[in-house]
Amino acid sequence: MPADTGSNADWEEARRCPKCNQPGEEVAERRLPERHQGKVVTLACASRLCIQFGDRWIVQVKPDGTIPKRKAGTLKSFPDMTDRQIDYAKRDIADAKRIMGIREDQ
Ligand SMILES: [Zn+2]
Repeated sequence: MPADTGSNADWEEARRCPKCNQPGEEVAERRLPERHQGKVVTLACASRLCIQFGDRWIVQVKPDGTIPKRKAGTLKSFPDMTDRQIDYAKRDIADAKRIMGIREDQ
């Protein structure tokens, strides 16, 4: 069994910036209230060449390390999360932006 499991490959894909495809930096992590749902990791693009630089996206990671396939048409989004949980994650992103001095609508 190779060390690079399928779930690692999923993570490598999910952590990449939706715009420039460079690996993002983990900036926050929130446990989801239901144990089986795992956690949500907030990532930020670290490439200064990217138009998405400083922007953030979220990735859900299940307790077993798998990453739910994202829904078509939405940016790195998560079918297993309820609307309320996505709201929490969005709030994390908004908080992070405020701390960084980035306007909400950017
Ligand atoms: Zn980028």
